[in-house]
Amino acid sequence: MEKSADTMEKIVALSKRRGFVFQGSEIYGGFVGSYDYGPYGVELANNIKAVWWKSMVQKEKNIVGLDSAVVTHPKVWEASGHVGGFSDPLVECNECHTRSRADHLLEDKDIFADEKMSEEEINKLFDSHRDKLTCPKCGQKDFGEIKALNLLVKSNLGNFSDNWNEDPSYLRGETCQGIYINYKNVLDSARVKIPFGIAQIGKAFRNEIAPRQYIFRKREFEQMEMQMFVSPDSGMEKFEEWKEKRMQYYLDLGFKAENLRWHEHENLVFYAKAAFDIEYNFPFGYKELEGVHARGDYDLTQHQKFSDTSMEYLDQKNNEKYIPHVVETSVGLDRTFLAVMTEFYDEDELGGDTRIVMRFPKKLAPIKVAVFPLLKNKPDLVAKAEEVFSLVAEEMRAEFDDNGNVGKRYRRQDEIGTPHCVTIDFETLGEENSDLKDTVTVRDRDTGEQERVAIADLIEYLK
Ligand code: ATP
Repeated sequence: MEKSADTMEKIVALSKRRGFVFQGSEIYGGFVGSYDYGPYGVELANNIKAVWWKSMVQKEKNIVGLDSAVVTHPKVWEASGHVGGFSDPLVECNECHTRSRADHLLEDKDIFADEKMSEEEINKLFDSHRDKLTCPKCGQKDFGEIKALNLLVKSNLGNFSDNWNEDPSYLRGETCQGIYINYKNVLDSARVKIPFGIAQIGKAFRNEIAPRQYIFRKREFEQMEMQMFVSPDSGMEKFEEWKEKRMQYYLDLGFKAENLRWHEHENLVFYAKAAFDIEYNFPFGYKELEGVHARGDYDLTQHQKFSDTSMEYLDQKNNEKYIPHVVETSVGLDRTFLAVMTEFYDEDELGGDTRIVMRFPKKLAPIKVAVFPLLKNKPDLVAKAEEVFSLVAEEMRAEFDDNGNVGKRYRRQDEIGTPHCVTIDFETLGEENSDLKDTVTVRDRDTGEQERVAIADLIEYLK
């Protein structure tokens, strides 16, 4: 199916109708930049995390996991540079006072602003195009001066004074700082040697000025990050290796190569050695999905300076001491979720009807199998179906459904991407000597084709 401008609306509508994504605090009129994952959304999100963890930790012999605190010592964010420099360029419309990101207003008019441009460069670019830029709310062209707005979210955790605002702790703006500050602990406890990596999945918070594009840009979001600690002379080699691995990961998941591309950062932050983004062809165009960055020794050096703790590594092979360099892969869970919804959304015709079908790869499908009694009002069918459900649910995420007719139940499962539906009918209960006794119909999501399978072979078949 060709994706078009209305694909986004369709995905948003399906996500609400079928319980993937709800607007955050909806009964209170919503809360900007906040979304909740519903019953199928949480399954999909968990599956995305499990696939990432398997690929990054389970299958890598020198990568280990971590779950660090969301709120850390405030000095972490001074050392990382976030307190001083983690900001977005904010402009306010002089007419309706809507706040926008200056770089996004430029982007809306196809004027390219690199997200790593300096404040001065963005100011200049903005000023030279003021006559073209329009407020997304009221359409006027009259803006105030650009202000740098810090993205860190302040908290009073552990600070009980009235002036906590002057000495706040921060909700983490990225998960990787928790990895850097534990690098020594992991080194001393996990029998790892350079090169080794630490992977983490967790929430991050940013006071985004204008959250937009649905779950693409949230204020509370989740990151899946891996930091590889390498020797200074192998930094670029490892970087190339991880670039390749991360692109392959999406292809292995079933993404079409034509929907993915690399974007090289033209303006590197001063410490970075190289920075590439994997961009996905979202319904609103190619946008960053994941970053792969060679960060040099900047982060560990900063933490060494601010914490007064040595971050040096003794390389016993060469009897050499150095601060390791870092290669990072960083992807948003929510952006992966939206990319997965976009990539596998499909509409086709089946048995004369048009249907929506989410063609999720099996490992991502929220529900692996749905079990139906043919009729709801026949206790024998229902009892047998419940028995089959219990058998299957032991092995995989399953759903029991006896609502409405079977055709309707198929449509519903197609829309949530369930690869198989199993129906228990009168033949299942059949005569003792019937061939069909203790067999069920298994229907395939993609082809709609049905096969008769013995209950005894069902698990094997589904796997
Ligand atoms: P952008 O330029 O789109 O704001 P970024 O370059 O600031 O993103 P990073 O700091 O590199 O993003 O964060 C790594 C990953 O975290 C991104 O590739 C993205 O998938 C995810 N991410 C960052 N900010 C958000 C957000 N506000 N909402 C959802 N995911 C996000």
